[in-house]
Amino acid sequence: MLTIGCHLSSSKGYLAMGKTAVSIDANTFQFFTRNPRGGNAKALDETDVKDYLAYAAQNGINHILAHAPYTLNACSADEHLRDFARRTMEDDLRRLEFTPGNCYNFHPGSHVGQGVETGVAYISDMLNQILTPQHQTTVLLETMSGKGSEVGRNFEELREILDRVQLSDKMGVCLDTCHVWDGGYDIVNHLDEVLDEFDRVIGLKRLKAVHLNDSMNDLGSHKDRHAKLGEGKIGLEALTRVVNHPALSGLPFYLETPNELDGYAREIRMMRERYL
Ligand code: FE
Ligand code: FE
Ligand code: ZN
Repeated sequence: MLTIGCHLSSSKGYLAMGKTAVSIDANTFQFFTRNPRGGNAKALDETDVKDYLAYAAQNGINHILAHAPYTLNACSADEHLRDFARRTMEDDLRRLEFTPGNCYNFHPGSHVGQGVETGVAYISDMLNQILTPQHQTTVLLETMSGKGSEVGRNFEELREILDRVQLSDKMGVCLDTCHVWDGGYDIVNHLDEVLDEFDRVIGLKRLKAVHLNDSMNDLGSHKDRHAKLGEGKIGLEALTRVVNHPALSGLPFYLETPNELDGYAREIRMMRERYL
């Protein structure tokens, strides 16, 4: 069975997200650990977590994906902002231990002119400070479109980070179809070759999740504007090949398309119908 879900608001807690997911025939979901613009997280409601875990087990929700606030920048030139990113992610990881065995995705960051090497060094330093052997969460680097000075614009940059993390078995990668397309990987005409390249540079065993998005822009545009499935430059045929590709079989797929709940329900139905 296809594991597919979408990004949901976490404002009403875990159980509410689980119920919303089931209502749109999703069997996983993604959520922000706190306000995406940063700031303090609400106190963790342990009753809500306990109720959610029972509900998830009964309703076939296996893995879920937590997403760090996208405003964090682990490789900022400002020491205070780097420190804020580290403390926020450390706190997120502590909270995610209440729902063990899931993944925590983050945007590597923007080097803001300091250069990729400096960016990679800051990001891997931070990971080396926050990861512990006890953590039961896998931390994912997201493939980025390369807008501005984003680190992670190609597979090599992610590999550079992974190579420098000591507890590297705690690390994985989340592939965003819009981002890799905008980053110049032609998943429309050369999906096999792109996945071969991912395997050669990073290793497919590192791939833990896929963000399934269409893109408003052309191959290599470095823009990062998501489109509804079938309404962008990637198109429904190519996205159908993605969910059916044997190298990606068993992975969870997350929609981050510009939709309300009914739109997500429609896209999930569409991809389930197209899943062979
Ligand atoms: Fe993201
Ligand atoms: Fe994404
Ligand atoms: Zn994006």
